[in-house]
Amino acid sequence: MMVVLAAVLYVAPSLRAAEPPRLAVVIVVDQCRADYLDRFRPWFVADGFRRLLERGVVFTEARHRHALTATAPGHATIATGVHASVHGIIANEWFDATTGSRIPSVEDPAAPLVGAVAAATPLPAALGDTETSGSPHRLLATTIGDQLKLRHGAQARVIALSNKDRAAIFLGGRLADGAYWLRTGRVVTSRYYRETLPAWVEEYNATDPINRRFGATWDQLLDAAIYDAVQGPDQAAGEESRHGLGTTFPRRIDGGEATLGREFHNAYRLDPHGSAVLGQLAQRAIAAEQLGRDATPDLLCLGFSQLDYCGHSFGPDSHEIMDSVLRLDRALAELFQFLDREIGPEHFVAVLTADHGVAPLPERVQAFTRDVTAGRLDFATLTHDVEAALAAAFGAPPGVATWTIRDSYGFRLLPATLAAGGVDAPAARQVIKDALQRSPQVAFAWTREEVLGAVPASGPYLDAWRLSYHAGRSQDVVFSPRPYIVDRRPAGSNHGTPNDYDNHVPLLWYGAGLAPAVRREPVGTDAIAPTLAQLLGAPRPPEALAASLF
Ligand SMILES: [Zn+2]
Repeated sequence: MMVVLAAVLYVAPSLRAAEPPRLAVVIVVDQCRADYLDRFRPWFVADGFRRLLERGVVFTEARHRHALTATAPGHATIATGVHASVHGIIANEWFDATTGSRIPSVEDPAAPLVGAVAAATPLPAALGDTETSGSPHRLLATTIGDQLKLRHGAQARVIALSNKDRAAIFLGGRLADGAYWLRTGRVVTSRYYRETLPAWVEEYNATDPINRRFGATWDQLLDAAIYDAVQGPDQAAGEESRHGLGTTFPRRIDGGEATLGREFHNAYRLDPHGSAVLGQLAQRAIAAEQLGRDATPDLLCLGFSQLDYCGHSFGPDSHEIMDSVLRLDRALAELFQFLDREIGPEHFVAVLTADHGVAPLPERVQAFTRDVTAGRLDFATLTHDVEAALAAAFGAPPGVATWTIRDSYGFRLLPATLAAGGVDAPAARQVIKDALQRSPQVAFAWTREEVLGAVPASGPYLDAWRLSYHAGRSQDVVFSPRPYIVDRRPAGSNHGTPNDYDNHVPLLWYGAGLAPAVRREPVGTDAIAPTLAQLLGAPRPPEALAASLF
């Protein structure tokens, strides 16, 4: 009996180090498609992505299982191991149909920003990040960082850093010791976490790395011919020219203006310099917050967001995206070398993934194929068709302008209009669904009753929408556009669908006790938090269902 037990104990920990890692580094690259790592691999340096690809565990078939593949839901799922159906972050922002007001997922008037410059340089709403406050108060599930804090209290340190507020906030969770993000040239946090910036952040802000980038040139890291061979020509149909950046290399990072202002800050978000800044900030956090210095595991969450801004303007097949990935690779290499020196390779684990991918520019799809319908989503026509169908079924909306408010890939019925018209909500939802499904741009639409299982339903995208749908927050009818129908006008690209280009992401694990391997079985990003719990010896997020990957 003792012999058998000893044999079991000998085999079971074979993938584990003798002691749990002292630091886990969770790296989420915003809008990083799985195929980027294959496509650009020949030009990676030894210690960046290549270290993970060659010396780590590579999952080639990792996907977000939810339908609405966007930044806030994606980061929340990675951190919690559950989907919007449980964590409640259905989108980056949504609408309250009763008041008509916009609800940014991280906005929290009780948690104003700390360390931001005065609102002298406000950012346009079209690019997001307009929030003057931020907290995880709308996040309804616990993160892996929360689980570490629940297990170890103050002994475990949890720090989240990102170029974007919603990435840092949702990766960190409710109990994070700190979450920091970039806003108009500064590293900031909010009063949810602290009253003032810590000294190490103030010191970094004093070096003013972002504003000092004003007027610098962004040119290609490698010879342009390499980019031509991999991505095609720099100038491509459908690329978006904004913030003085144009559509070709080289470009000056100045917002197209003579002085440092709002347009510089908008341009800067597309500049891969932002990845270098986040990497430097991560190194300062590790040193100042004493991460990974003792046997109690700490967690550092990093959200690299620059690829997302860049991909929205130039698409996945651009020179700009290739250059951004190569420069991120160099920033990661410096970070891993720093971790080797400061923590020791035997004491940390890292996982790298993405919150979502991105669609190709529809103009590129149109140029290459004859049989695929590609184009730009026409929300004006969709909304008109939905309103016309409701008016045909129930009459003109009584006393108000519309029956609905369009909200992301969905529509909400206005409660006051329904009540005034004496219209039954399920009947109205069916009318909206039928109108959407008549559109050649819509793959499938689902009513609330269908998603929640109140009426029988089956078909494409339904399982994914059930994961994206929160009963208390989601729309009356949801839908997904057909493949290669892109929600951005008049140029650029987008994500947000359950199509492969949006939901297929890298998933790479590296570190102490993990033998190099390539694993080809399909896995969900909801397995990341349970796997981290397993590796760190922390309790699993209680509502997470996926099995640990190791
Ligand atoms: Zn995006």
